[in-house]
Amino acid sequence: MTHRILAIPGDGIGAEVMPHVLRVLDALGMDLSVESGTLGGVAIEEHGTPLPTSTLDAAREADAVLLGAVGGPKWDNLPMDRRPEKGLLGLRAALDAFANLRPAMLFESLANASSLRPELVAGLDILIVRELTGGIYFGEPRGIESANGRRRGYNTDVYADGEIERIARVAFDLAGKRGGRLTSVDKANVLEVTQLWRDVVTEVHADFPNIELNHVYVDNAAMQLVRAPKQFDVIVTGNLFGDILSDAAAMLTGSLGMLPSASLNAKGQGIYEPVHGSAPDIAGRNVANPLATILSAAMMLRYSLGEETAADRIEAAVNAVLERGIRTADIMPADSDADVCQVGTDEMADAVIAAL
Ligand code: NAD
Repeated sequence: MTHRILAIPGDGIGAEVMPHVLRVLDALGMDLSVESGTLGGVAIEEHGTPLPTSTLDAAREADAVLLGAVGGPKWDNLPMDRRPEKGLLGLRAALDAFANLRPAMLFESLANASSLRPELVAGLDILIVRELTGGIYFGEPRGIESANGRRRGYNTDVYADGEIERIARVAFDLAGKRGGRLTSVDKANVLEVTQLWRDVVTEVHADFPNIELNHVYVDNAAMQLVRAPKQFDVIVTGNLFGDILSDAAAMLTGSLGMLPSASLNAKGQGIYEPVHGSAPDIAGRNVANPLATILSAAMMLRYSLGEETAADRIEAAVNAVLERGIRTADIMPADSDADVCQVGTDEMADAVIAAL
C-alpha cells in the first residue's frame, strides 16, 4: 500500500532540513507518495495567507503531514490572525489533532548534555501525551474585565467526559505498545475538572486491564520528573499541565535540535514536526541539527503509517551516528577532550543515510 505524505518545509531551518528528511525516507526504499505543501511565512508570501486552502485540502487527503517549522522576524509585526503560527494552529484545528505526543528520549551517547547527572537520564525514554484542543486554553468564558477602576482576568478549565475518554484511549493504546505503564497527571485534590479527568481515566482503564495505571498530582509529577525521570513510561495529562511538563521533560534531554513531536486525530492522521521553531538566527548556514525532524519522520512511520520496522531503522541509524561521535554544533559537549567531530546539517543527514 502506498502511504501518502504531505511534506511542508515551512520557514527558516524548516526549509533547510526538509529536503534531507525526504532523502532519509527515500533511503528506506518504501512505497511513499510525497506531495509538497506551503504553510507559514512562505505561504503568506506566495498566497497571501499562512494556511492556503490547497495545503489544507492536501493535508486532509494525506495519511500524515510532515512539517519543518514556521515563522520568522519578517512576519512578526503582522496582525495576529495573519501570522505564520496561525497557519500551524489552523492546520491542527482543521485535522482535529487532539493528541499531542512528545517523547523525551535521551540517546546514551548524549547523556552528558543533560542538566541532570548522566546516570539519572542515560537511556531515558518517556512519552508525554498531552490533550491539545481543550482545557483552559480554549475554555469559555475567558477575558479581562474592568469595573470601578479595577481589572479582573479569568479563564475556564473545562473538559467533557468524551474529550478525556478519547485522549485516555490514545494513551492506554500507546502504553500497550511500549512499557505497559501509564501515569495520569491531574490536580484532583483541588480542581473538579481534574477530578472528572481522574474518574474517566479510571473508567477507561477497565478496557485496558494489561496496562498498569497510576495517578499523580501535577506538583508531584514535576518533582519526580527532575528527581527520577526514568520511573515514567507514558504520561497522559490535560493541555495546561502537558504544556509545562513536556517542556520540562524535553529539557532533560539537552537539546531542542533532538526533539520530535506528533499531533494525532481520531483517524490516526498526524502532523509530525520537531519541537523547535524556524531558528532564524542560524537559518541558511548549514548548522541546524536535522535530527529532530528526522526523528519526527520516524514517529510518523510508527504512529500514522504502521511501519514500525522502518521507524526502528531510522532511530537505530541516528543512534549509530551519535555513537560514532558525529555532532552538530548544538549537541557538541562542553568538554573539548571528548572524542567527537562537529559537522553541518548536510553532513549529519548524509551520516544518517549512510548508517541506514
Ligand atoms: P527556535 O526553536 O526556533 O530557536 C530557539 C533556539 O534554539 C535558537 O537559538 C535556535 O538557533 C536553536 N535551535 C532551534 N532548533 C535548532 C536546531 N534544529 N539545531 C540547532 N539549533 C536549534 O525558537 P524561537 O527562536 O523562539 O523562534 C523562532 C521562530 O520560530 C519564531 O518565529 C517562532 O514563532 C517560531 N516557532 C515555530 C514553531 C513551530 O513551527 N512549531 C515552534 C516554536 C517557534
